[in-house]
Amino acid sequence: MRVLVIGAGPAGTRCAERVAQRLPGAAVTLLGAEAALPYDRVALGRLLSGEVEAAALITHDAARLRALGIRFRPAAPVVALDRATRAAVTAAGERHAYDRLVLATGSRAVRLPLPGAERAGVFVYRSMGDVLAIRRAAIGARRAIVVGGGLLGLEAAAGLAAIGLAVTVVHAVGWPMERQLDEGAGAMLARALGARRIRFAMPAAAAALEGPPGGLAALRLADGTRLAADLVVMAVGVRAETALAAEAGLAPGRGIPVDDAMRSADPSILAIGECAEHRGTVCGLVAPALAMAEAAAAAVAGAAATYAPRPDPAALKVSGTAVWSAGEVAPPDAEAITLRDEAGGRYRRLWLRDGRLVGAVLFGDTADAPFYLELIGSGRAVAPFRRDLAFGPAYIPAAARDAA
Ligand SMILES: Cc1cc2nc3c(=O)[nH]c(=O)nc-3n(C[C@H](O)[C@H](O)[C@H](O)COP(=O)(O)OP(=O)(O)OC[C@H]3O[C@@H](n4cnc5c(N)ncnc54)[C@H](O)[C@@H]3O)c2cc1C
Repeated sequence: MRVLVIGAGPAGTRCAERVAQRLPGAAVTLLGAEAALPYDRVALGRLLSGEVEAAALITHDAARLRALGIRFRPAAPVVALDRATRAAVTAAGERHAYDRLVLATGSRAVRLPLPGAERAGVFVYRSMGDVLAIRRAAIGARRAIVVGGGLLGLEAAAGLAAIGLAVTVVHAVGWPMERQLDEGAGAMLARALGARRIRFAMPAAAAALEGPPGGLAALRLADGTRLAADLVVMAVGVRAETALAAEAGLAPGRGIPVDDAMRSADPSILAIGECAEHRGTVCGLVAPALAMAEAAAAAVAGAAATYAPRPDPAALKVSGTAVWSAGEVAPPDAEAITLRDEAGGRYRRLWLRDGRLVGAVLFGDTADAPFYLELIGSGRAVAPFRRDLAFGPAYIPAAARDAA
């Protein structure tokens, strides 16, 4: 059996590895658009901050791929699929025939179409190539602007601050990470990051990038304010990379629609990771992408395969700032319990509906995160220990917890 995996991100690489293990006789080929060997995208922040060099992020070197029996082609973007003859064609014209095809093309970072966005010094933050280019531009630079104060934007800001740049985050909403944090936790986070030379312009809208011909000197806000900048990183979201599937007639919605076994509308083609749309949802985290890879590998091997989505917690990976959230954040129809210790830098907010925990935000101390995640996931009634819920499991008698 010839199994072709397109996209060597975490999902594609995991799937190729599992297929090779499950089907030792199969010819497994992994095609990646990037020049690098498969690497840990989640750890790119450590490369940006200079904590590690690129080689430390490689998860599958040539020897490991060989030992697994995976034929890997870097710098081999696939430009066309021929479903009739079951083959994929790379930009260099290499043709790869398949019996089963796994699309794992992930997402691409959105580049705001602002006037001047094509100037040198304007970057996105998605790939190892992006990070290496940002690091080169940071040599001799003093001021950086990050557009977007979500999880990735803040991680980029912290990395740039760690290598000595003065960083301003331009964010459209009044507090950072508004999709994961309520206003109280967001304000505390902004203050904590302020102590590390990260400033915020918010709510504010980036309007244009300005400078000498081709170069960059400033970012102009919609209200006319000019912020001086030697480099700008746009971290304003991602879009599922579905161009290939769309051209092959696989009718993508936000992603490539798949069933619980990751099968697309074409029975010989599966889709996994951030390019897949499962039950109307496109994932944006690595854990579900890897779980989909496992399910797809099982399906390719003819085993029972089901991907079951779980609540995805989000955590900010900036050392010294413990921030965690899961479930619904500030839903309008829920009751909230808040614990706030402003001076101690500790904040908790929990949302309850019908006596069950539906969302939680923790700032400053995230040690109890697994307890709240379990309650959100299980949907257990919290009435027996509601009074002590915000203090965490250490304050709840075991008998009350078990009674739930
Ligand atoms: C800086 C950073 C930090 C992150 N931190 C976290 C975190 O802390 N926790 C978390 O859960 N998630 C995090 N994420 C998100 C996580 O990286 C993604 O959820 C994960 O990478 C998705 O895996 P994927 O394999 O589906 O897609 P991707 O990682 O996007 O991989 C897709 C690959 O396919 C390639 N490709 C695309 N088109 C083609 C083509 N036509 N031919 C060949 N190859 C192609 C792409 O070049 C890419 O290498 C982070 C992301 C970034 C950028």
